[in-house]
Amino acid sequence: MNFDGQNVLVTGGSRGIGRAVSLAFAGAGARVAVAYRANHAAAQATLARLPGDGHMRLAMDVAEPAAVEAGVEEVAARLGGIDILVNNAGIGIYHRIAEDSYADWQQAWRDTLATNLLGPANLCFCAARAMIARGGGRIVNITSRGAFRGEPIKPAYGASKAALNSLSQSLAAALAPHNIFVGAVAPGFVNTDLTADRLNSPEGAEIRAQSPFNRVAEPEEVAHAVLFLASKGAEFSTGTIIDVNGASHFR
Ligand code: NAP
Repeated sequence: MNFDGQNVLVTGGSRGIGRAVSLAFAGAGARVAVAYRANHAAAQATLARLPGDGHMRLAMDVAEPAAVEAGVEEVAARLGGIDILVNNAGIGIYHRIAEDSYADWQQAWRDTLATNLLGPANLCFCAARAMIARGGGRIVNITSRGAFRGEPIKPAYGASKAALNSLSQSLAAALAPHNIFVGAVAPGFVNTDLTADRLNSPEGAEIRAQSPFNRVAEPEEVAHAVLFLASKGAEFSTGTIIDVNGASHFR
């Protein structure tokens, strides 16, 4: 896949899946804006690893609507437009309905939805307006297997990802007339910081055994699906949700 001359904004592009996505796009010829929340060192390290030139990094908390608007404007100005948006930044908060306080329950929902759903929705709005002005673009949202399989100890996370799948499909229909194609990638467990505690715990063996490969995904395997959805030729796949879960869950 070739992305020569294209500009890509990757939220959460500094670590984990987002880092693999940033590296893959840069390796395929794109200019990448690595957006992140607060870990400047990780973002700088990823930026330094990107092949090619013209890349940038940007601290932008996706849960802050004003930061999203300003961030999209800055990326478009510095790169000369945005061709591809990857909504990858996300958080997972454990909150157990039978044990948590009511206040903790509400806080977990607020924080999760702000980052995992409202943030991507606002990024879609700001980036789509910029793409419409340029004649088209691509949006890929990172959701999760949990949207389909359930997340018993992170119910707000599962709901946020199900909603993001739905948003992706609504926008695929709404934006097709504007030459903007929207897809989602729904990974199962992936080997990143987000899952390290669970994968390194006694539960890790059970998690790996969910797949007949007896392992979890590597971030590069998720990036491969992202690049496919963003590639030329994938236009008629708009609205698709690609599972990357090693046959651990069928829907
Ligand atoms: P990760 O290793 O924890 O990395 C998270 C990235 O998102 C970091 O770059 C982080 O920036 C950024 N981020 C977090 N909150 C942010 C915010 N409010 N604003 C801007 N950036 C923010 O995560 P990951 O495992 O790669 O997961 C990436 C995406 O894949 C998430 O949406 C996650 O839900 C989804 N996913 C992951 C798995 C898995 O097993 N890992 C499975 C299914 C889906 P800082 O470092 O600056 O905080």
